[in-house]
Amino acid sequence: MDLKPFRIICRDCHTEYAPLRLRPECPDCGGNWREAIYDYPSLKREGNAWPTAVSQRTSTLWRYHELLPLRYQRNRVSLGEGWTPLLKAENLGLMLGHPHIYIKDERQGPTGSFKDRQAAIAVSVMKEMGIKEVAVASTGNVAIAYAAYCARAGIKLWVFVTSSVPVEKMREVALYGSEVIKVAGTYDQAKQIAADFAASKQLFLDRGVKDFAAVEAMKTLAFEIAEQLGQERDDNHWQPSDGRWRTPDWYVQAVSGGMGPLGVIKGFVELSRIGLASGQPKLACVQVGGCAPMADSFAQGLETAVPVENPMTDIATLATGKPGRAYQLLRENIQQHGGIITSVTDGEAFRALQVLAQMDGISVEPATAVAFAGLFNLIREGVIQPHETVVVNCSGHTFPVEKHILGEHFARDMALPNMALADEAPVGDAPRPEGLLTALEDVDSRVQRIAILEDNADSSRLIRRILQAQGEFLIDEAVDGRAGLDLIRQTRPNLVLLDLMMPDLDGFSVVEAMKADETLRHIPIIVITAKELSAIERQRLNGKIRALLQKGSFMVSDLLSDIQQALP
Ligand SMILES: *Cc1c(COP(=O)(O)O)cnc(C)c1O
Ligand SMILES: [Zn+2]
Repeated sequence: MDLKPFRIICRDCHTEYAPLRLRPECPDCGGNWREAIYDYPSLKREGNAWPTAVSQRTSTLWRYHELLPLRYQRNRVSLGEGWTPLLKAENLGLMLGHPHIYIKDERQGPTGSFKDRQAAIAVSVMKEMGIKEVAVASTGNVAIAYAAYCARAGIKLWVFVTSSVPVEKMREVALYGSEVIKVAGTYDQAKQIAADFAASKQLFLDRGVKDFAAVEAMKTLAFEIAEQLGQERDDNHWQPSDGRWRTPDWYVQAVSGGMGPLGVIKGFVELSRIGLASGQPKLACVQVGGCAPMADSFAQGLETAVPVENPMTDIATLATGKPGRAYQLLRENIQQHGGIITSVTDGEAFRALQVLAQMDGISVEPATAVAFAGLFNLIREGVIQPHETVVVNCSGHTFPVEKHILGEHFARDMALPNMALADEAPVGDAPRPEGLLTALEDVDSRVQRIAILEDNADSSRLIRRILQAQGEFLIDEAVDGRAGLDLIRQTRPNLVLLDLMMPDLDGFSVVEAMKADETLRHIPIIVITAKELSAIERQRLNGKIRALLQKGSFMVSDLLSDIQQALP
């Protein structure tokens, strides 16, 4: 059975609701944080049966599918994410005198960071919702991960990054065929711009931690850590594992917006509810000193975080200046279960980066090194004790795309007209300056419209993806001939890509109907078909279409050059 019993509820008033595309707020209380809940009692009743079943499943995060927010398996978008190794920090442990330090090696995700978990779940959920275009703001790694997964899902991605994101990362995003918009401002401003853009284009906006997908994705870290620690045995006595999942004493992570630790908390809460954990680890959230709103506010005992307006760090990945509610949630949890929010300097991070590479053969990006620098400090200060079991999220390693592959023009620059940013303003609410609207308009330069008439979902995703990655086309789709004709009448596309075998009205009839209509006659048609055409059928199309491509035997470049020739 692949229909899953999960519910999506408002975090504040627990009302269950499906959000409207442009109005994500709860209809009851106006809250904009949502959460997924599952049937915990029935999993608990299964006792050991569930962990035993899980232990025999695929080595991806989908092994926990009963606790993931997807209804149908066919909507999974997967690149083999999750189930990353839990490595013992042998030499580092010896050096620090701490024998129980483990490294959760998230560098080994498909795009090299733990954002692959988020992308896998969020993009699968989008696919299930039928979303074809999405806007997201990122400090770098979300952009790369989403770009890869959206490519597979046939979703067009608009990424808003700050100019401080390393150019190698932006190039990687562009390589996957996404639109990269470089905002000359802070990450919090880029988020606002992405929201404005989505609202003005009526596109889906990925809201990160506020919607359920990201937290659901990050909680799989907790599941894996508990399951993998259960398989660890005493160094000196090889003993078969007793199959019990284990909770570490500490979870250490470099923190920007706080999605990772919030997910890990939820993971251990769920494991406790189904009887696989007896509590939660203490959280060590480590920020970078030049942008440490959570650590600074925590040190001062503040209930809400004071935003950092001008991040002063070279570690762009961690430059979230306005943590908002994530801070309150993390602080409350730490007050209840122990832990700390602390910070390190850029310099401390760079030194830790070298130590980790030299001592244990693990090369990480600077943001990840922030967690290790924090670990070193907390051990030195005696906050983390030698007998405690510690898991550090080794959050990322990037593989830069070499410069000569894409040239210089893979991103567009966007200067911000002087604007005051309303804190947490609802999407598209406050009036925006005229200059911004024009700038947002310029970001999307697509004018050519293409209609795809295709009943096979895989074929239409393939064609859509080829067009999306090109960047230049507005795409509409219909799944049968009759709906297709209506669509063509409504949108007056510049080009029609047509399948021949479709229910209701087949492709031949669509061609004939278009040619019989004065207003549609001039629209060029390219036929893409799996059908071997008979002489009579060829005759029916003769002179009426621009090109004929055989499914399964044309390349991206063939289709694009036919399209270029057909367009005015
Ligand atoms: C996103 C990211 C972080 C911070 O994660 P949050 O849990 O969202 O604060 C840390 N390290 C790397 C490599 C990241 O990509
Ligand atoms: Zn509510």
